[in-house]
Amino acid sequence: SDHQLTYPVTPQHMDWSTYFPAFVAPQDEDTTMSHTTEATDVLSKRPPKQLTKDVEVVDIGCGFGGLLVALAPAMPDTLLIGMEIRTQVTAFVQDRITALRGQNSESGLYQNIGCLRANTMKFLPNFFRKAQLTKIFICFPDPHFKQRKHKARIVSTTLNSEYAYVLRPGGIVYTITDVEDLHDWMVQHLEAHPAFKRVAEEEQEADPCVGIMRTETEEGKKVERNKGQKFVALFRRLEDPPW
Ligand code: SAM
Repeated sequence: SDHQLTYPVTPQHMDWSTYFPAFVAPQDEDTTMSHTTEATDVLSKRPPKQLTKDVEVVDIGCGFGGLLVALAPAMPDTLLIGMEIRTQVTAFVQDRITALRGQNSESGLYQNIGCLRANTMKFLPNFFRKAQLTKIFICFPDPHFKQRKHKARIVSTTLNSEYAYVLRPGGIVYTITDVEDLHDWMVQHLEAHPAFKRVAEEEQEADPCVGIMRTETEEGKKVERNKGQKFVALFRRLEDPPW
C-alpha cells in the first residue's frame, strides 16, 4: 500500500535539493532566516531550494538502480531520477548512490542520479512540469502482467497520456521486457496514442541507451543468465498538432 506516500502539490513545490545536493543553486542569503531549522522552513512556507538544472530523465520502477548507475557517467550533465515503490529497495538505491559518490568524490561522478520513493502510477504530473523530461525508461515492468487488470498496468491509455504530458516533443519512452505479451501490449498501446510514434529499429539500435538498458538493469542481467529473450521498443513524443 502507498497510503503513507506524499506528493508535491505542484512541480514547483518539489524539493529536489536532498536528491541532488551538488546541483543546488546558490541562494540569496537572508540573514534573518539563516538559523532556521527545516521545521521552521516548512512553517514559514519558504519555497524549496532550486537546482541549477531540471531533472530530465526518469526510470519508472527503477528496482535496484542498475540502469541509473550505468547511465550516470554516460550523461554526466543530466539529472536522472529513479522512482521506486518499495521502501527498502528505494533505501538500498539511495545508500548505493551515497557510497558511489563517496568513492568518486574527486571526479564528482554519480551526483547526477537519485532515487525517490513513489507510486509512478499516481501523480507523475505533480513531480514534473509539462514537457520537462527528455527520456522515460520503463524496464521490465509488470512481471505479473497477465494477472493484472488493465488499469493496474504501467503502460495504459491513461498513463500514456501522463507520459506524453511530462515528456517534451522529441523525447523518448524506452521499454524493455522479457514477456512477449507485455511487449505486444506496450507497443499496441503506445502506438495507438496520438502523441507517440515508434522509433525505427535502425535508430533504436544506434541509441547508446538501448545497449545500457539491455545489459545493465538487474532484471536484464537475470534474463541474460536464464538465456531469456528481451523485447525492446522505443517511442518518440511527437509535437502536439496545431489547434
Ligand atoms: N527496472 C528494474 C530492472 O529492470 O531491473 C526493476 C524491474 S522490477 C521487475 C519492477 C520494479 O518496479 C520493482 O522494483 C517494483 O517495486 C517497481 N514498481 C512496480 N510498480 C510500481 C509503481 N507503481 N511505482 C513505482 N515502482 C513500481
